[in-house]
Amino acid sequence: MEIAPLIVHRGGCHCGRVRFEVLAPARLEVAECNCSICTKAGFLHLIVPAERFTLIQGRETLQSYRFNTGRAEHLFCRICGVKSFYVPRSHPDGFSVNARCLDDATVESMNVTAIDGRHWERAFPAGRGEFD
Ligand SMILES: [Zn+2]
Repeated sequence: MEIAPLIVHRGGCHCGRVRFEVLAPARLEVAECNCSICTKAGFLHLIVPAERFTLIQGRETLQSYRFNTGRAEHLFCRICGVKSFYVPRSHPDGFSVNARCLDDATVESMNVTAIDGRHWERAFPAGRGEFD
C-alpha cells in the first residue's frame, strides 16, 4: 500500500483562541463515533500520534471534562465551547482532532467510517481502538 505524504493542516475552535497544527494526509480517513458524547458534539475523529500534533495557542482557555472511566480527557474552549481536539481513551498517548475544526484550505477529501463507540468494550475488546 502506498503511504500518503503528510502535510500540515491547521485548525482550531470557533472563537480562534485555540489553534493547532496537525500532520496528516491531504485525503483524510476519519471516523464518526456513536457514543454519548461524540453524538452530541458531532465529532469527526482524526487520530494522530502525539508527535504529529502541536498546540500553537490557547492552552490557557482549554477546559478539561472527564466522565465514565475518566481515561479520556475531553478538552474544550471555555470561551466558545468548541472541542477541537482531545486525548481519547483509546489513544492516551495521542490526540483525536475534530476534522470538522480543520481549516478547509488543505483538506482534499474526507472518508468517514462509522465506529460503534456506544459499545466501547465490545468494539475494542483489547481496551484499545479508535475512540471514546
Ligand atoms: Zn474558542
